[in-house]
Amino acid sequence: MTTASTLFFDRSSAILAHLEETGQFKQLQMIESPMGPRISIRGKGEVDCFCSNNYLGLANHPDVVEAGIEGLRKYGAGTASVRFICGTFAPHVALEERIASFLGVEASYTFVSCWNATEATFPTLCQDGDVIVSDELNHACIIDSMRLTTSIHRGVSKCIYKHSHMESLREALVIASKKCSNEGSIFVITDGVFSMEGDIALLPDIRSLCNEFCAVLVVDDSHGTGVMGETGRGTHEHYDMAGNEIDIFTGTLGKALGGGAGGYVAGKREAVELLTQRGRPTLFSNALPVTVACSAKAAIDTLDGNPSLVQKLRANVAAVREGIGEVGFEVLKSPTAICPIIVGETATAISMSNKLLDMGVFAIGFGYPVVPEGTARIRVQVSAAHEQDHIDRLCVALSELKGD
Ligand SMILES: *Cc1c(COP(=O)(O)O)cnc(C)c1O
Repeated sequence: MTTASTLFFDRSSAILAHLEETGQFKQLQMIESPMGPRISIRGKGEVDCFCSNNYLGLANHPDVVEAGIEGLRKYGAGTASVRFICGTFAPHVALEERIASFLGVEASYTFVSCWNATEATFPTLCQDGDVIVSDELNHACIIDSMRLTTSIHRGVSKCIYKHSHMESLREALVIASKKCSNEGSIFVITDGVFSMEGDIALLPDIRSLCNEFCAVLVVDDSHGTGVMGETGRGTHEHYDMAGNEIDIFTGTLGKALGGGAGGYVAGKREAVELLTQRGRPTLFSNALPVTVACSAKAAIDTLDGNPSLVQKLRANVAAVREGIGEVGFEVLKSPTAICPIIVGETATAISMSNKLLDMGVFAIGFGYPVVPEGTARIRVQVSAAHEQDHIDRLCVALSELKGD
């Protein structure tokens, strides 16, 4: 007998079969070692890892690991509570103060992920009459946060501008000013470093446009924090901007800052406090695990105490970008640790990535729906933990691929 549920399961297996047939099915590789420049994958052995967000090599840094263990021993495995009931532990507050001082802003508040932090931000901070202005290539969590906002607050509108196109941003702001009510606010949101292009937002220009239109500037610097700027403060530091020139930051602890998990909102005290009081993920979902808070704080301390980590990352980025170019692939020009090699079709990117893995180099192919159709790519990510021999092996593998 055909029931509604068999229809659903048949439909789902047809979708999965289609993904397999068209070469779009993702194999999840099983890692059997800590995250590092060289990792062990079940069935593949040891490979050079060029696809993690472990930009500073802190994911398995002894001080970061030790801080987590100490936190686990002292505070146990779980908070068993959301923050406002009995889930705010000393390490949460210490971490939040550390994030705020690191970024040079008034306050910060943590979430279990940056996805969660972003999902909390706009629905909580916006009200009817507001307008959100967003770069077309912003991260998926920003897009979903805006969708959620406009479905909760029907009177909030959004304007999308062309990627890093300042004339288009100005036009969007002109439209936003017309749509915005008298009591309304305009928010401009951008990634600091764009995760799929590896390019950086034009923050000084965006800041002055925000000033001109009295807009609140929100920057998600998940790929920029720990990476960009002389001391790894992020994309604003790359431009010699102070932290408090950005009204609100969102960011992740799951990349350069230890790579565990967790996200935060940081910036003006009013915004952070409003999220603490009213954010739905805050009110209805558990606190960041304390051990993760301890590790993340140790990661920031380690970064702050070792500016050479950021310098080494920068040197490695230059070497990898030069190497990719010498092999004959084109990589989008940028100072970031994300080096995308555009190859076109999703199936091509996945097959190239599989060949690289067979040669002992782990770099993932991204296709639709993560990036627009026709712009599939191999995304090479650089870490301060890479040594010259890792980079050499990457270049040899890429040149064999080029010769194919
Ligand atoms: C990775 C990333 C996120 C997601 O961070 P999580 O903490 O893993 O949820 C959010 N925004 C941007 C721009 C990212 O690159």
